[in-house]
Amino acid sequence: MSLRFIVTGGAGFIGSAVVRKLIGETQHDVCVVDKLTYAGNLASLAPVSGSSRYRFEQADIGDGECMRTLFAEFKPDIVMHLAAESHVDRSIDGPRDFIQTNIVGTFSLLQEALRHWRNLESEARKRFRFHHISTDEVFGSLGEKGFFREDTAYQPNSPYSASKAASDHLVRAWHHTYHLPVVMTNCSNNYGPYHFPEKLIPLMIINALEGKPLPVYGNGLNVRDWLYVDDHADALLTVATAGKTGESYNIGGHNEKTNLEVVKAICAILDELRPDPEGPHERLITYVTDRPGHDARYAIDAGKIGRELGWAPKETFETGLRRTVEWYLANPSWWGDIRSGVYRGERLGVA
Ligand code: NAD
Repeated sequence: MSLRFIVTGGAGFIGSAVVRKLIGETQHDVCVVDKLTYAGNLASLAPVSGSSRYRFEQADIGDGECMRTLFAEFKPDIVMHLAAESHVDRSIDGPRDFIQTNIVGTFSLLQEALRHWRNLESEARKRFRFHHISTDEVFGSLGEKGFFREDTAYQPNSPYSASKAASDHLVRAWHHTYHLPVVMTNCSNNYGPYHFPEKLIPLMIINALEGKPLPVYGNGLNVRDWLYVDDHADALLTVATAGKTGESYNIGGHNEKTNLEVVKAICAILDELRPDPEGPHERLITYVTDRPGHDARYAIDAGKIGRELGWAPKETFETGLRRTVEWYLANPSWWGDIRSGVYRGERLGVA
């Protein structure tokens, strides 16, 4: 059955992967709602923007009147809510936008979704889902052992993760109190094509290509659990369409790596694909002041989504990273425009 999706934040890194998948691999209709902040980029939607099943609306999720009109006109079956301020370092420098979009914006969107859902006819009412996309960072930091599960207590440490934790709680409460049919997902660190170059992996690829220093925070031993973005998009569509309402699902790739291992792996792929006459790319690694309050380790137990919904990632870290490096090598105009405009690679979030 063909469904109608609103995807908020659809011009961002993960949202655009979801939209490219929805248009490219399904028969569903999609309306992207995106404010186009510094992180939103219509070039990431260019591969699908010619489709008659695609529509773009530049709007703020916090603009209730605009969302109300859009819900009434577009009549979504499923709302996938990805719009957010997403960069921890920026949340340290200026938390206000994070509170405004991630918390107040999500509240406002929930109110409009609830109004829309209450006015639906019975069949459409049964179909409707509000899917909130969140992060494993809401659970805080792990020691050397253990994994985040769906029932792990929340203990967010950064302004970013605290704002996402707050929005998770709002979504859960709108289900519990008003019975809004919601599903929730918390995912580990994503990487892949179209990733904004302020984040670790694209920043390292681009700096290495330009012969610039590769800034590793602290001792480089913080551990993240990496997931290829298309695997995340696949998991999100699975949960949006088949997840049980009121439930949350953790998503992860079982790819724990220290930041230093990630940077060295990028250097090794570049040494092979784009050797630098000056020497191996690892020579560019530079240790810089750590991020304040830097969480030591994140690791996801993704057992529930595997057992209950049959999802498993397709890429290993090695195959996904190679694809990613190849994409950045093949698409210098996508990141070149960003590097010459809104973000030039400067250090953020030193507080
Ligand atoms: P991103 O920063 O690349 O994209 C966010 C998008 O939201 C941008 O297109 C931006 O223009 C839009 N946006 C921001 N404020 C808005 C507003 N007020 N109204 C409408 N649009 C607005 O982020 P991403 O990495 O694609 O992350 C998407 C979602 O997934 C976020 O909710 C994030 O918390 C979550 N998440 C990200 C990761 C990760 O590793 N990147 C991991 C787990 C969860």
